[in-house]
Amino acid sequence: MKTCTKCIIPESVKGAEISEGLCTFCKTDQRHRQKSAMGKEALYRELKQPASAKYDCLVPISGGKDSSYVLYYLAKVLGLRVLAFFFDNGFICSFARENVQNMCGSMGVDLVIERATAYRLKQTQHALHAAKHLGRFVKVCGTCSNNLRTHSILAAKRQGIKHIVWGASDFEDSSTDYLRNEKLKQGNRDTWGTPGSERRKVWRALKLLFSGSPVGKLRAFYHGLYYMYYTVRDNLASGCMEGIRNYNPFLEVPFVGKGVQVHYFFDYIPYNPVQQVAELIKETGWRHPESREMRMDCMLHAFINYQHLCDNGITHDGFILAGLVRYGLMDRQTALVREAAAREGLAEECERIALELGVISLFRNWSTNKVVPPGQKCQPLL
Ligand SMILES: [Zn+2]
Repeated sequence: MKTCTKCIIPESVKGAEISEGLCTFCKTDQRHRQKSAMGKEALYRELKQPASAKYDCLVPISGGKDSSYVLYYLAKVLGLRVLAFFFDNGFICSFARENVQNMCGSMGVDLVIERATAYRLKQTQHALHAAKHLGRFVKVCGTCSNNLRTHSILAAKRQGIKHIVWGASDFEDSSTDYLRNEKLKQGNRDTWGTPGSERRKVWRALKLLFSGSPVGKLRAFYHGLYYMYYTVRDNLASGCMEGIRNYNPFLEVPFVGKGVQVHYFFDYIPYNPVQQVAELIKETGWRHPESREMRMDCMLHAFINYQHLCDNGITHDGFILAGLVRYGLMDRQTALVREAAAREGLAEECERIALELGVISLFRNWSTNKVVPPGQKCQPLL
C-alpha cells in the first residue's frame, strides 16, 4: 500500500489520493498555515479580571495533554487565578485522574469535580451492543462533549466566572470531520450545534441503519432506541440549558448565547504538542502511558481509534499525528512509532473495555459488513 512520503497517511484513507509521493492533505491543507496565534499578552488581557473577582477564568481539564497544558500555562506562566473543572464521565483512565489531582494539588489550583449521570453508562452499553450488530462502532463517545460543555458553563455561572478557556485544537478533527469541513471551508467549532450539523447526524444514523443484514439491523435499531432514550434522560438530568432541544437525541450544545465567553487557547498560543508535553512533564510531573501521549484520558477513545483504523487503515491518533508531521511539529519516524503503538493490541483493548463495561464478547457476533482494509491487523477476535 502506498503511504505519503511527507506525512504518514496511507492511500486507504478516505479522500486521500497519493500522487508523486504526496497525499491530498499535504498538497491542499492550508488551514493551519494561514492561522497566526494572537499571543499571550492578548490572552492575558482578555482573561484578567479586577482584584475583587475570585477567579479570572475556568479551565475544563481532562488530565490529557492539551487541557493540562492550558491549566499549567494560565496558572503558572500567566499567573492567573484559575478554577479547574473536571468532568468524570465514568470512563476516565487512572493516569488522567492522577494528573488532574496532582497538578491541581502542586500548583494550588482550586478544583471542581462533576460526575456523569447514571444514564451515561447505559447509553454507552447500548452503543456497544448496537456496534455488535452493525459491525462498527458508532456513538460510543455518547454525549460527552455535551456534558462537558453544559457542566463547564454551569460551573462558571455558579462561581460568577465570565471566561472559559477551551483546550481543543483543530488538529484533533477526524478524517471525516476534516474532509467535510474542508468542503464547507469551516472548522468544526463553527458548525457545532447548528441545525445543519444535527441534520447530518440524523442522516448518517439512517444511512447506517439501512446497511448490513436485516436481523442485525433490527437488533441495532432496538439498542439504538434505548441509546436515544438514555441520551434524552441524560440531557434532562444534567441540567442541559437547551429547552425543547433537550428532547433531540442528536443535540449538540453550542457555546453561543450562554452568557459566558469561551476562548480557544490555541488561537492565542501556537499548538506544539511535543514541546508542550515536555514542558508539562518537567514543570508539573504530568504523566502518560508509554508511547501514548494522545487521548489517553478516556478509555472509550480505543473504540474511536479502532473504527478509524478499520475505515481508513490508520488510527484516529495516527491521522492527527500525520497533521503534526505535515506542519513540522513532529518528525515522521516518531509518528510512525506512535501509530504502531496505538495499533498494538487495540482490538483486545476494545474487547477488554467492553467486558469491563458489562458488554460481553463484543467481536464474536460481528457480521460480515465489517470493513477491514487489506493488510491491517484489526480482525475480529473469534
Ligand atoms: Zn501527506
